Amino acid sequence: GAKAEGRRTHRFFEPAMGANARARLMMEQDLRQAMNDGGFEIHYQPLLGLASGEVTGCEALLRWRHAERGMVSPAEFIPVAEDTGLIGELGEWVLRTACKEAATWPDHVRLAVNVSPIQFKNLSLALKVASALAASGLKPDRLELEITEAVLIGDDEIALAILHQLRAIGVRIALDDFGTGYSSLSYLKRFPFDKIKIDRSFVSDIAVDGSSTIVQAVVNIAASRNMTTTAEGVETEQQRDLLRSLGCTEMQGYLFSAPKPPTELKPLLVGSDRVLALA
Ligand code: C2E
Ligand code: MG
Ligand code: MG
Ligand code: MG
Repeated sequence: GAKAEGRRTHRFFEPAMGANARARLMMEQDLRQAMNDGGFEIHYQPLLGLASGEVTGCEALLRWRHAERGMVSPAEFIPVAEDTGLIGELGEWVLRTACKEAATWPDHVRLAVNVSPIQFKNLSLALKVASALAASGLKPDRLELEITEAVLIGDDEIALAILHQLRAIGVRIALDDFGTGYSSLSYLKRFPFDKIKIDRSFVSDIAVDGSSTIVQAVVNIAASRNMTTTAEGVETEQQRDLLRSLGCTEMQGYLFSAPKPPTELKPLLVGSDRVLALA
């Protein structure tokens, strides 16, 4: 019967869940230690204007240098940091560190920072952003916060209020990974983003199937609402050329540069290397 079934299911899954929970607990301890020991660093990936070929900004991407496992992907540890509440402290460290770094870049280069939906549940986010700007001297309009649709899902009144607080400070807001979530178009109506980042999945397929039609539609909608568009994960010249012909504003991807540590990034921002050979 149902009872026996339930018991069997329970017995079947228990050991696996136990192992998973143990692994998470270990990672949580490792994350806490890394936070105290300076185990995190930030790499920066340039964004390029498709018309000018110039670096317009850089996205801060968190890296964890683990003693035994080497570089651990944020895709692996950000979810754990979110579940355990560590994301608040970690996100604040990223924000403050990246703002200080960006203050040393040329004035026209913006900084993009990813903000977790969990950080949006904290009513002091706008205060923390203002504090990071003040401490670094970075002008507010040089900071762009990247959020995902998950921020606006469900009981989104608080998230909307916080978005408006951030806008009042003068920072820019970008919608990240566009096209991967739900009811994307309605979110564009609810909040006036400055930028839409078109997810890598559309870019990688752009020359192969109907993706270029979708990208064109997104570019058109964005333009009609005064938003710019950035294509993520541009790896080939063919993708770049197509995106440019579709009117996409910016590109980001391995074609120009992978995320780099600050010292390796600098040469891309200043001098003649700043201009990408787009021809
Ligand atoms: P994202 O914000 O969409 O960042 C873009 C991801 O695409 C980065 O992965 C970047 O390294 C990768 N990428 C860039 N160009 C290419 C390309 O040409 N080809 C391919 N295959 N990939 C490319 P990364 O650095 O592993 O970060 C993964 C995700 O982790 C980010 O996705 C973001 O959601 C999250 N993340 C990273 N840093 C932070 C952070 O400081 N805070 C928060 N909350 N999330 C972060
Ligand atoms: Mg991002
Ligand atoms: Mg993205
Ligand atoms: Mg992405």
